[in-house]
Amino acid sequence: MEKFLYTPNTGNYNLLMAYPAPESFAMASLGYLWLYREADMRDGINAIRAYTDNIPSIRSINAIAFSMSFDFDFIGVFNILEKLDIPFYSNSRDESHPLIFAGGPVITTNPRPYEKFFDFMIAGDGENTFTRVLDILKSNNKKHALELLADVDGIYIPQKSVKKYTAKLDNVIYTPILSDKSYFKDTFIIEIARGCMNRCAFCTASYINLPFRYYEYEKIIDAIELGLNYTNKIALLGAQISAHPQFENIMEYIEQKIDSGINIELGISSLRTDSVTPKMVQILVKGGQKHSTIAIEAASERLRKFINKNLKEEQILNAVKIARENGLKGLKIYSMIGIPNETDDDIQEFLNLAKKIKAENKGFSIEFSFSTFVPKPQTPFQWAKREESKTLEKKQKFLEKELAKIGVKSKFSSIKWDYWQTILSRGDENLAEFLTAVYKNGENIGAYKKALKETKPDIFKAINGFELQEALPWDIVENYPPKNLLINEYKRLLSRI
Ligand code: SF4
Repeated sequence: MEKFLYTPNTGNYNLLMAYPAPESFAMASLGYLWLYREADMRDGINAIRAYTDNIPSIRSINAIAFSMSFDFDFIGVFNILEKLDIPFYSNSRDESHPLIFAGGPVITTNPRPYEKFFDFMIAGDGENTFTRVLDILKSNNKKHALELLADVDGIYIPQKSVKKYTAKLDNVIYTPILSDKSYFKDTFIIEIARGCMNRCAFCTASYINLPFRYYEYEKIIDAIELGLNYTNKIALLGAQISAHPQFENIMEYIEQKIDSGINIELGISSLRTDSVTPKMVQILVKGGQKHSTIAIEAASERLRKFINKNLKEEQILNAVKIARENGLKGLKIYSMIGIPNETDDDIQEFLNLAKKIKAENKGFSIEFSFSTFVPKPQTPFQWAKREESKTLEKKQKFLEKELAKIGVKSKFSSIKWDYWQTILSRGDENLAEFLTAVYKNGENIGAYKKALKETKPDIFKAINGFELQEALPWDIVENYPPKNLLINEYKRLLSRI
């Protein structure tokens, strides 16, 4: 069942809002749902949701908007286009086909691999750009709409450069449709801040969302009140929510509600390791949370300093202690392996840290969760080499075995998938044929290998890295900070090693 927190409008312009994954993920995606709300409330627009597992039948579609949050989302895009019998390549489509466009973090970071498939793309924060797009689309034919869109900030028409659009945060974004089919069933998610001022050198959540911004306290409280009229599940969202200047007040407001007898299930995706407080954990526990996550990102203090995480071992130990003493049952500790300049000594540091945590927190559940470093565009590490899979596998096996010996659980991302993600992240327009071949070959790891043999894209640089002075495929996105500042930051970090 769905509960709408707004009043829909309608119109003659049929806009398919397509999410390239199943409905459960779409209904948990705040960005997608908020933009759907914008379209659904707009006079003249008939907004229709579509997912890979549910595409409503509709006689004529004027435009299709895709939301791309993950590098592998192109599979879902092709899947939906195929089911609608629409050619993948924009140059194979004509006036009779809908306008097809995309936005989301994947596009903001690097739209180049997808430019042969979309008529235009949205780079940066979607909310304001999207409403301008809607106004142009609903009152112009396809050709004229594209001409007008070329002058809109944040619109990337393939081969032209684009200035990323950065929104001023005003009205709080929250889940506008509560759904029992959502991955986070009936959960009212509220964005309280966007981006992160920490600027860890690998982190797109920080770098594509600079500067760090947050919503006014009063507006967040109003949103919480609105949500509580419909559900008792509240989740606070943001890459660095505890950096909101009134984060403690927000948490205390929720605590008072719980203390007054209102049953609230509170969700926060992760705790900030260097600012976990007993009070924060106590409120989370009151809100029904039993486990949480802290991210340490790298094996040793030396490496954390290099990546700009600047987290000391005693801060990690302290965060675990506070979590245990204040009622959580366990913590997941997230980190990466394969960061540039990582040595065997750094890997050994994981074990030393795990032993200390284990010794100091008897009976407390700890799980280490690892992924491998994927260099991402728009960050200071966009030039870095991806470590070879063979050495990553050795590190992974070593950690798995040694952590098990001391009774610490561990989980690892797939090295193979992280490898392909690196290629997708740092690719250019020449990946197009490869992407369609992957889709046709069946989407599994074997399909990627087969597609590579068949289409032979040049992936050397995507894997081995780029020179500082050379042009990068995603230079067409004018980001903040600009490339010269990223170069300076990369050099500054290298000088720390
Ligand atoms: S990794 Fe976490 S702390 Fe670092 S910049 Fe990204 S969001 Fe912020």
